[in-house]
Amino acid sequence: MPIAGVLALQGDFEAHQRVLAGLGLSSVQVRTAAGLAGCGGLIIPGGESTTMLKMIGYENLLEPLREFGRSKPVFGTCAGAILLAREVSNPVQVSLGLMDISVERNAYGRQVHSHVARIAIDEEEVEAVFIRAPVIRRVGPSTRVLARFEGTPVLVDDGLHMAATFHPELTSSDRVHRLFAARIR
Ligand code: GLN
Repeated sequence: MPIAGVLALQGDFEAHQRVLAGLGLSSVQVRTAAGLAGCGGLIIPGGESTTMLKMIGYENLLEPLREFGRSKPVFGTCAGAILLAREVSNPVQVSLGLMDISVERNAYGRQVHSHVARIAIDEEEVEAVFIRAPVIRRVGPSTRVLARFEGTPVLVDDGLHMAATFHPELTSSDRVHRLFAARIR
């Protein structure tokens, strides 16, 4: 039975583990390159991408994460989506570059730190919680948009990796995690 890794350097990794457990998928907290071994896929949670990057640097995890993601499914939510993107703006920062998307951090502005919206994934409506969320400004040709909010992509998929600008682990629907769990299985 495959095991999912959840990057546990910072952010709400435990919430993801609870959703995965509900789907019958075991998960481990990943903090080192050695921790990636044996994982069939990885979730990079929401939190603060700058803080995560610092810790990734301390652990020398940047290259191991890139290497892992070249062949294994990786799902990034919010800060995790920022880490997966090829280009990051506001401000420019380093990323894993595993997905051909460009994101702008904190793009909903200071007035709208957080909001809850309804979005449709394959015609199924789910609640999406946005917390100081990025906006996906560009999507490469090999990347599919699975859901939008007010016209901009909020859930994208390149067949191996997925990125959500919202927090699917904070709502009662496990719709998005099911997509990812199927990929690990
Ligand atoms: N604003 C955060 C960042 O830029 C992301 C917020 C989140 O993950 N909820 O990293």
